[in-house]
Amino acid sequence: MNDILPEASGTWRFLEQSVQDLVQSYGYTEIRLPLLEYTELFRRSIGEVTDIVEKEMYTFLDRNEESLTLRPEATASVVRAGIENGLLHNQRHKLWTAGPMFRYEKPQKGRYRQFHQFDVEALGYEGPDVDAELIIMSARMWKRLGIDRIRLEINSLGSPDSRVAYRKTLVNYFSGVKNRLDDDSIRRLEQNPLRILDSKNPDMQAIIAAAPVMLDDLDDESAGHFAELRVLLDEAGVAYTVNLRLVRGLDYYNRTVFEWVTDALGAQGAVCSGGRYDGLVEKLGGRATPAVGWAMGMERLVALYAACGGIVPEQHADVYLVAVGDVAQRRAFSLVEELRSSIDGIRIELNLGGGSFKSQLKRADKSNATYALILGEQELADGNIGLKPLRSTEDQISVAMNELAGMLAARLA
Ligand code: ATP
Ligand code: MG
Repeated sequence: MNDILPEASGTWRFLEQSVQDLVQSYGYTEIRLPLLEYTELFRRSIGEVTDIVEKEMYTFLDRNEESLTLRPEATASVVRAGIENGLLHNQRHKLWTAGPMFRYEKPQKGRYRQFHQFDVEALGYEGPDVDAELIIMSARMWKRLGIDRIRLEINSLGSPDSRVAYRKTLVNYFSGVKNRLDDDSIRRLEQNPLRILDSKNPDMQAIIAAAPVMLDDLDDESAGHFAELRVLLDEAGVAYTVNLRLVRGLDYYNRTVFEWVTDALGAQGAVCSGGRYDGLVEKLGGRATPAVGWAMGMERLVALYAACGGIVPEQHADVYLVAVGDVAQRRAFSLVEELRSSIDGIRIELNLGGGSFKSQLKRADKSNATYALILGEQELADGNIGLKPLRSTEDQISVAMNELAGMLAARLA
């Protein structure tokens, strides 16, 4: 679990804000959710026989002996909230949410126990138009941020029925190579063979690569849905590869699944992943509601943005007020507040804790402010204030106090 320190938080805020602005411009609105849910919610939605539920959840009993879990992902909570608040009765919602997620994984670069996701969910939409729009929206996000080392993989998991057929195909195949499966996969063979395809074990990759693919078992409607999605992506000029072994690690997906992957971050290549989960609302007790969404790992976005040469606009003060002497220091307090009232959005820092003229000016320089304002006893007596440009070779000038706000506003505009 990481601390995000001041030197990094500017990048985080910039990226969070960029992503929020983008999805808001597509009509998504924010929903804020609790970090804790009943454990049962995740067991039922993500699935008992998955990495997350079997090994990765932070689960504990509260004082009332109820089993609670720190959320490992957001989709289940969005659906729970939608049902509980009556948002899903013949309504459609495009929602976004963001915040920390918790998974007890082996920490390594790009993989943490508390990490952050940005999440979008479209509830009540059958697609494939919304599937396409969600993907196109993410493609625009990379473009806006100048992220080019990323590519898209898509697949279709079909309907629940066609998954039953595919499951049989997989059990057959993996049973034939059972002596080469790892312990997890042997355990999952009967319970959840699809999960074997999502194994991260390098020793399993050859067996997985040779496994039969879903496509052969795909039902007609899902095949049509997938074909239309591809047409829409083609028309939008969004490039992709069909990865027939992309299944995702959670049980609730059907039909469209996709993943944006990068080679810029080593082994942790998945940056943004999602898919359709038409059965989940009903499974959790709501009325059948088609839905689709994606989640992006913010730590990986931050790293990828840097890897692609992204630079974050620096945050610094416009003005640093230097005040020397007791009287000037007291006057400085009211002066900065007057300036804040008269110049909208001005970023102004008041020297705190006194100090000599020289040491205050040093602080002003360190603050990266554009100007220092200098107030001493002489200036007070004359009704003036010194304005010293800190980022240019321009000379300091003296400004009449009653002209200061106007002059600063003009210079900062
Ligand atoms: P991975 O294949 O890397 O384990 P995942 O399939 O488990 O990822 P999802 O559950 O789809 O991931 O979560 C969506 C996104 O959240 C991922 O694409 C990734 O960017 C990010 N993510 C997932 N787990 C972690 C983690 N432990 N630390 C940091 N980011 C993570
Ligand atoms: Mg994972």
